Amino acid sequence: MNVKEILNKNNFVFKKKFGQNFLLDQNILDNIVSLSGANKDTLVIEIGVGAAALTKKICEKNAYVIGYEIDKTLKPVLDEVLNKYDNVNIIYDDFLKRNIKEDIKKYDFKRIMVIANLPYYITTPIITSFIKQKIDVEKIIVMVQNEVADRFSAIPGTKSYNSLTIFLNYYFDVKKAFTVSKNVFYPKPNVDSAIVVFNKKKDKLKLNNEEHFFKLVKSAFTQKRKTLKNNLSNYDLNKVNNILKTFNKDINERAENITIEEFVKISNELSKKK
Ligand code: SAM
Repeated sequence: MNVKEILNKNNFVFKKKFGQNFLLDQNILDNIVSLSGANKDTLVIEIGVGAAALTKKICEKNAYVIGYEIDKTLKPVLDEVLNKYDNVNIIYDDFLKRNIKEDIKKYDFKRIMVIANLPYYITTPIITSFIKQKIDVEKIIVMVQNEVADRFSAIPGTKSYNSLTIFLNYYFDVKKAFTVSKNVFYPKPNVDSAIVVFNKKKDKLKLNNEEHFFKLVKSAFTQKRKTLKNNLSNYDLNKVNNILKTFNKDINERAENITIEEFVKISNELSKKK
């Protein structure tokens, strides 16, 4: 029986509020799994299991899967689809309410990976929750609406470049892998999607003080249309200006024109111990 038939048999009712559009195309599912490189050494945290089309394929790679699914009415479906695998544990809860460290502490794996196909508004808090909870994730693969995929890897000088881009690109190399047509989902959504891959950076830029850096970046973008002179008025503007001059810039620039490396240099200079 295929996923559609199992959903129908269990009289499953799709819920729009949870962004339930299930991926059915076997080739795309295979592509996502091979992009992950998941194997027996991997703990995969899957967020938004749905009808487990992807979960099944990851189980077949002998990785262990901890899956989160907010919709408890999917339980009979998932019990049926996953009954022959013993390398999977589904947690029926809102992922954003979970203490991930607690959930994974009994598992001992060399690599941790995250795979998620969720509405965009939850994707950002999910990625940041791994950073905030200091979980050493090697790779995050997310599916998002095509037009928002580029925001994650936006470059300076573009409209999408903001404090979140800097935050994410500080920790990860971010790449859009491929687009996925809306026609391969059931039910069919209104827009196409894309797969974005976050690979943990091997060499992060050296920061004196991470907290100082993120506060500085956040302040710099407080009012996007204003200059650094306005947004960074709580900082030593003279010093900021002098550092900026070394990159042929000054405090009349907007934050969107400052690269991550430049923000790092400004933060390191300002937070230097005397
Ligand atoms: N991964 C499946 C696939 O590719 O076919 C399902 C994808 S569907 C777009 C998103 C799934 O995430 C739904 O099953 C939905 O119920 C679940 N979901 C939505 N918000 C969630 C949350 N906060 N925590 C856990 N699951 C959530």
